Amino acid sequence: MEHEHVRAVDPAVADALESEVDRQRSTLSMIASENHVSRAVLDAQGSALTNKYAEGYPGARYYGGCEYADEVEELAIERATELFGAEHVNVQPHSGTQANQAVYFAMLEPGDKILSLDLTHGGHLSHGHPANFTGQLYEVEQYEVDPETGYLDYDGLRDHAEEFDPDVIVSGYSAYPREVEWERIQEAADAAGALHLADIAHITGLVAAGVHSSPVGIADFVTGSTHKTIRAGRGGIVMTSEEYADDVDSAVFPGGQGGPLMHNIAGKAVGFGEALEPEFEEYAERTVANAKALGERLSEHGFSLVSGGTDNHLVLVDLRDSHPDTTGGDAEEALEDAGIVLNANTVPGETRSAFNPSGVRAGTPGLTTRGFDEDDLRTVGDCIARVIDAPGDEDVEREVREEVDALCAANPLYE
Ligand SMILES: *Cc1c(COP(=O)(O)O)cnc(C)c1O
Repeated sequence: MEHEHVRAVDPAVADALESEVDRQRSTLSMIASENHVSRAVLDAQGSALTNKYAEGYPGARYYGGCEYADEVEELAIERATELFGAEHVNVQPHSGTQANQAVYFAMLEPGDKILSLDLTHGGHLSHGHPANFTGQLYEVEQYEVDPETGYLDYDGLRDHAEEFDPDVIVSGYSAYPREVEWERIQEAADAAGALHLADIAHITGLVAAGVHSSPVGIADFVTGSTHKTIRAGRGGIVMTSEEYADDVDSAVFPGGQGGPLMHNIAGKAVGFGEALEPEFEEYAERTVANAKALGERLSEHGFSLVSGGTDNHLVLVDLRDSHPDTTGGDAEEALEDAGIVLNANTVPGETRSAFNPSGVRAGTPGLTTRGFDEDDLRTVGDCIARVIDAPGDEDVEREVREEVDALCAANPLYE
């Protein structure tokens, strides 16, 4: 990628942009929330629509000259509707967090109650963490996964909901490796008379492809990020029924945002179009098969996986059993030095801190986009084990780096 127009006026930024492309090409991007969008999505996101103000919605804008913005937003909505089968879709949220904010703003008053999964058990900041606006505006209690199995404790959630009487129950997670049983969370919501927000940020692509069950038609609201498994460029989306459509639309704009990022909505339209192709279903299936292959290989090397394995695109390794003296941060750093980029992550029953937790989270969406198969992921599992078994060993680091270079060369990115 040349970035020739940037280079002509701003070599410093052009250098950084080029270095970033090189970094993505020459390392294994295994941060579970990341992916590599297509050149087509990149092109759409870098388009002249970044210049356009289009406050409002298609056909009802506050400014003139919106005919092509309307076309693009309508395509994004149509395609999302086809992908997810939702009655109503809003493609304007700037991110997944903004999508959640819109639902809270539409349905809750300050002081209302949210019941959500604990962050250290796989939840998300925007589900009521004290550092987030949600933790400050609303009264929040948290449910947990079963400490023995690592699976959601649906019965415990139901009891907790009946006792706490929340206004909304939030499901959908950042670090939960298992299939979510939406109906069981809906039962807890029904029993407590609460609304149900299913935040599928991580698994939007798996749900679109039918590889993970869908909460659309079960939960009252479904939100997501569009840059994770779905590969449609950075942004967010909200889906709901006709009943809440107007409330959600007004909560997105003017409730929480000004002009929509029309260039990103163009990226969403292109990415959703790609996700409607049969190849995308294959991609989603391979993403899950690759995560299983990685998890199995790590288990063979003696690592403990939270819940014992995975049903989706990520594995969560609890280092405390196999490597009690290695923190997630130590592992993250040693792996990055060897060209494997993933993140330290809290684990259920965390005994360290959020800044240097006891686990690492690894995902396969990005590698699968590059063409990695299950054999490759077994090799990656071997590499991860070698590095974590010998942190700071420069010979190991160099040999793993060579293995990473070979895998990258065999699976090129942005040619
Ligand atoms: C990633 C994520 C989000 C949204 O993140 P943004 O960076 O705001 O797009 C929301 N909820 C969950 C569960 C997530 O994992």
